[in-house]
Amino acid sequence: MSILKETKFILDKYHIHANKNLGQNFLIDDETVEGIIKAADIKKDDLIIEIGPGLGTITKELLERAGKVICIELDSRMIEILNERFALYDNFKLINKDVLKVDLKELIENEKFSTTKIVANLPYYITTPIIMKLLEDKLNVKTITVMVQKEVADRLIAEPGKGETGAITYAINYYTKPHTVIQVPNTAFIPAPKVNSTVIQLEVQKEPIVKVENEEKLFELIKIAFMQKRKTLLNALANSNKYGTKEEIENKIAEVGLDLKIRPEKVTLEEYARLVERIK
Ligand code: SAM
Repeated sequence: MSILKETKFILDKYHIHANKNLGQNFLIDDETVEGIIKAADIKKDDLIIEIGPGLGTITKELLERAGKVICIELDSRMIEILNERFALYDNFKLINKDVLKVDLKELIENEKFSTTKIVANLPYYITTPIIMKLLEDKLNVKTITVMVQKEVADRLIAEPGKGETGAITYAINYYTKPHTVIQVPNTAFIPAPKVNSTVIQLEVQKEPIVKVENEEKLFELIKIAFMQKRKTLLNALANSNKYGTKEEIENKIAEVGLDLKIRPEKVTLEEYARLVERIK
């Protein structure tokens, strides 16, 4: 049965209407599911954590290939469906909770798999908090393969210092190597969202790309700079009243070799790292 038919059948059987507030857009496109599964490169001894399994479209493919699949789903209506659908799989575990409230580090450590991968068609209303959590919790995971809104993907995989970035671009590039997997049109979902989507993959790095004494201070500096992204880096930092007088900041920016008129999004990760060592 095609994924479209299967999805319609399940929605009818359980009288389910997608809950927009939970970012529910169910995948109905075989090719997209294949693309996600291929990119995730699942092995029999992998632990997979799936965020927001919904009706279980991706889950089904994960269960066939992985050592174990742990799904975290907030909507209790999906829990009955998933438990019934995957009752025969002994490598399936379901957690009915908000993913932002799950201790993922403990979850992964308790399972004792040598490799863990995260896969998700993310609920778009909390894409950024989820990705930040996955990065900041410093999880022992190999890859994070996620579908996000196209515009968000463009920002996530942008190159720091080249513009079109956000503070999160720097976090992504500090912890991971990101790349695009596939572009997905809005017609690949029911209900169809207004926007197109992109599947991206983040390869988590064992060591951060740049070295700093205190990474919290690095990300605080980047966040403060991006709060006033349209201003110059100098003015954004001076307005925050956190890093001394304007003249002092001017000197530090010049010491790093940056133009005093540079905007926050034109500064590279290495340059922020050098700057934070001077103005801490
Ligand atoms: N994986 C399914 C698919 O591809 O068809 C559904 C994806 S849908 C875009 C997002 C899913 O995340 C929904 O099932 C929704 O209920 C779930 N969700 C929303 N907020 C969540 C949260 N805070 N924690 C866990 N799951 C959440």
